[in-house]
Amino acid sequence: MFDTLSDRLTAALQTLTRKGKLSDADIDATAREIRIALLEADVALGVVKTFIARIKERAKGAEVSQALNPAQQVIKIVNEELVGILGGETRRLNLAKNPPTVIMLAGLQGAGKTTLAGKLALWLKKQGHAPMLVACDLQRPNAVTQLQVVGERAGVVTFAPEPGNGVGDPVDVARRAIAEAKHAQHDVVVVDTAGRLGVDEELMKQAADIRDAVQPDETLFVVDAMIGQDAVTTAEAFRDGVGFTGVVLTKLDGDARGGAALSVREVTGQPILFASNGEKLEDFDTFHPDRMASRILG
Ligand code: GDP
Repeated sequence: MFDTLSDRLTAALQTLTRKGKLSDADIDATAREIRIALLEADVALGVVKTFIARIKERAKGAEVSQALNPAQQVIKIVNEELVGILGGETRRLNLAKNPPTVIMLAGLQGAGKTTLAGKLALWLKKQGHAPMLVACDLQRPNAVTQLQVVGERAGVVTFAPEPGNGVGDPVDVARRAIAEAKHAQHDVVVVDTAGRLGVDEELMKQAADIRDAVQPDETLFVVDAMIGQDAVTTAEAFRDGVGFTGVVLTKLDGDARGGAALSVREVTGQPILFASNGEKLEDFDTFHPDRMASRILG
């Protein structure tokens, strides 16, 4: 995903290593290159501006280090700032003191929610939890079956409305699922919700109603890293319409330019908790800002 960005940043920083002492003009020139690289990678303009301003300020005022030459110092600053926009520390999943922990998934159709539900369930199971999936996407034909299939693959129980009962009310399904989880001692409940192709009010209202009914410990906004600049507007719409406590980036294995991944934390103020990078249930892990920054800087 970050190949082009990574190449561009490495090239911009490499010019510096050929120089001994760095002038302000050298730093400005490098900052310009970094700015172009980030904009071409579809990173949101506001994020780029803040990032560049901080790099310039810190690089120009860089304290003299015995251990690092000037170029290495700038590289270190860029790395630290990149870790910063990606969220700094790794943020762990918030588990409820009184189980079950309720995790609600929200996002556009096709973002990868249902797949993520399976991935999360498998991951939780490996951590010793007893998760249950809940099918509250009752809009899309097959969504319930698709969730049941990923649930089976992950080896976990899926709570779904009984077939033949019409479309059903997702809020009612969610409520009954929580009661069932308590009864059957599932300590984590993952609620899949409906997504539409675009943001719409009915979808937001439904997700907000489910949220009110289940009082999630975490609401995860699931976003396809391939959708570029749209990720930011979508994230803002979900933040305002439903609210969320964390972000999951999906399709990081794709060859898009990756700006979404770099903007969403800074724009929404919410941490990225997990990253998905493939269609298999195992293609999934906790998100580590420092590892992602190292991957980008090559
Ligand atoms: P939903 O509509 O949000 O529930 O999205 P789905 O879970 O149905 O995913 C939409 C499509 O994206 C499916 O074909 C998934 O196999 C695929 N998908 C989901 N996550 C990933 C990922 O991390 N990488 C890739 N390459 N494909 C993914």
